[in-house]
Amino acid sequence: MIFIANILALIFNMTLTYLPFELQLKHPFTIAKFSRTSTPLMLLKIEHEGYTGYGEASMVPYMGESHQTAINFLKTVEVGQFRYPFNFEEITAYLDSLAPGNPAIKAAVDIALHDLDGKIREQSCWKLLGSDPDLMPVTSLTIGIDTPEMIIKKVNEAEACKVIKVKLGRDSDKELIKTIRTVTSVPLYVDANQGWTDLQQSLDMCYWLQEQGVQLIEQPMLKTDLDSNAWLTQRSPIPIIGDEAVQRLPDVEKAKGVYHGINVKLMKSGGMYEAHQMILKAKQLGLKILIGCMSETSCATLAAAALAPQCDWADLDGPFLTTNNPFKMPVFKDGKYLLSDEPGLGLKQ
Ligand code: MG
Repeated sequence: MIFIANILALIFNMTLTYLPFELQLKHPFTIAKFSRTSTPLMLLKIEHEGYTGYGEASMVPYMGESHQTAINFLKTVEVGQFRYPFNFEEITAYLDSLAPGNPAIKAAVDIALHDLDGKIREQSCWKLLGSDPDLMPVTSLTIGIDTPEMIIKKVNEAEACKVIKVKLGRDSDKELIKTIRTVTSVPLYVDANQGWTDLQQSLDMCYWLQEQGVQLIEQPMLKTDLDSNAWLTQRSPIPIIGDEAVQRLPDVEKAKGVYHGINVKLMKSGGMYEAHQMILKAKQLGLKILIGCMSETSCATLAAAALAPQCDWADLDGPFLTTNNPFKMPVFKDGKYLLSDEPGLGLKQ
């Protein structure tokens, strides 16, 4: 892979280069609010004394970031700020001081620095973050809204997967689940992406979904409607998980009493450091944790996989739903990521 972008600075022998990239999806991806066929990424390299750390921003359109916003942000980053040994709390504060928002490109910088740190220390990121690979949860594979024929094709393609995540939020939701149940009996996760509106109908749906082997429901109602989400959480027989409502660390506290758990994603949290803080905070508050991803290559998903053993559920299917992942596919066995002892993320070209 050739990184064509600019060298931003050459201070303290640390350089940051970037490559805009378009990640192609295997199937057009449809959820309650939109559909798309590719996702803009920014791939990053941070080099220091012969070591290279890799990072990635996945900029799904609804989050408001793009190649241009990422380039604009990176122009303001002075890599001389990243003195070794890295203090990730200070680095997160520094990136936040440059501009609000921009969580995906901030995550790319944070991931590259974690990979670099692991390589310099000759330790895997998961070890440095205190994860136990024996506790790795299975990863679900997401099936977007589609015709019954395509749903069956996608489920059959997902044969190696032990859990399937389904995007709901349309009138045909029950048909979709029934279609899946004609071809597989694996447990299901459901993501309504804020698509449900009626309280009683939603609760009835929770009970129906429980009978169908659904183990959790993500973001049933509008992220701003705390009362409705809390009402459903109090009554639902299956865990209700806040996703769109939970972006960064301060949101974890607000999720208490509204959801049973939270969905942590590096592209929302601004990277591995804050995602880890969110996991620790959620545990403290007794909230369950799902670790998820956007449309991502092996780079960002391996970064999330390093934290996944500290979570209850994992939804790290990014590389499996794309066709031009520029890195080697992550090692996957029995539906789980197999963490390697390689230094850093264990990412291979
Ligand atoms: Mg979700």
